[in-house]
Amino acid sequence: MVEEIPLSRPDIGRDEERLVLEVLRSGRLSQGPFLEEFEELVADRAGCRHAVGVSSGTDGLLLVLRALGIGPGDEVITTPFSFVASANVILMVGATPRFVDICPSSLNLDPKLIEAAIGPRTKAILAVEALGNPTHMDACAAIAGRHEIPLIEDCCEALGTTHKGRRCGSFGRAGVFGFYPNKQITTGEGGMIVTDDERLADACRSLRNQGRPIPRRGEPGPHGPNGPHGPRGLGTWLAHERLGYNCRLSELNAAVGVAQMRRLDDLIAARQRVARSYMSRLMGREELILPTVDSETAMSWFVFVVRLATGWGREERDRIIQSLHRHDVGAANYFPCIHLQPYFRELFEYAPGAFPIAESVSSRTIALPFSTQMTEREIGFVVQTLELMIEREGMGR
Ligand SMILES: *Cc1c(COP(=O)(O)O)cnc(C)c1O
Repeated sequence: MVEEIPLSRPDIGRDEERLVLEVLRSGRLSQGPFLEEFEELVADRAGCRHAVGVSSGTDGLLLVLRALGIGPGDEVITTPFSFVASANVILMVGATPRFVDICPSSLNLDPKLIEAAIGPRTKAILAVEALGNPTHMDACAAIAGRHEIPLIEDCCEALGTTHKGRRCGSFGRAGVFGFYPNKQITTGEGGMIVTDDERLADACRSLRNQGRPIPRRGEPGPHGPNGPHGPRGLGTWLAHERLGYNCRLSELNAAVGVAQMRRLDDLIAARQRVARSYMSRLMGREELILPTVDSETAMSWFVFVVRLATGWGREERDRIIQSLHRHDVGAANYFPCIHLQPYFRELFEYAPGAFPIAESVSSRTIALPFSTQMTEREIGFVVQTLELMIEREGMGR
């Protein structure tokens, strides 16, 4: 027997510990040098000029919508097949999510359907790299460009991925990463907005910090002579130009982020090894559809999600997940459709069948344990257990 195999597990090393201690001993726990370095590392990796660290991926998306002035009366086109946060933020600013069905192979927004859904109230496209797959993000950018509306790239699941030579994070007016412990890198909690648009970046910096004015380049920040933490302690700290939030990323979290970013290439290589191993072990099984990665994509792999072939149903899928749990194998139904969550159904009167491809896909997915530290033995055990469960379900049909 193998020990419990969790669905995901963060990869935290000695450097993460060392840098967190350094922050604790420095006395500077917010808005310090680690935040700046973390922002530079992520901006560089995403191929963008500016990066703004925030307290979560959800907050990053929320600030981008606010900074773009999207609010009541506006529509934002988005996908029903994603983690719920990508649509929640549209509700949070008082705008209306306009869901569009997905493409059955990439599981991302179907570009043809986006074009048909754009109307006079459409103020943005919020596209997600679902399960980390960037396919069609370039098409989304082209459509947004033609209609002169911003593309917001929810790249929370795609840090380090490239598609047709472009880096995830750089496709839209702004991209947003998330650093929850199951993502490619983690800061415990955290997120980052990336953009080439300096005014948008400044607006987000102000919004994350209670609407305070942005220090001009070269001007000392909160730790300078007039800052709240400086010797004279006042300055612009209590000046507020707009209704802001507190979405700052603490220096402790930023230090973890710096350590993780410094070894991002190794973390990605380890994820690719696990994905390759799953692929080769599961290939050729007619009951399963494996993740599709097009030839122009270098994936950093957020999760490893298989789905049962067409013809299998939700009950069988749910029983397989439960049986995996009974064998101490982590598994999950990534993702239930957003439009069928109770408050979305109530608000917009969606009924099952509204987005048939997203619904059909989401009823058959199984996320398998996935982390940098998985051994070949563990991967083998997961595959063997999954195959056994599928066989049992198949016999009952
Ligand atoms: C993780 C994730 C988010 C939210 O990130 P948090 O840091 O958990 O707020 C948003 N969108 C997608 C697609 C995600 O996977």
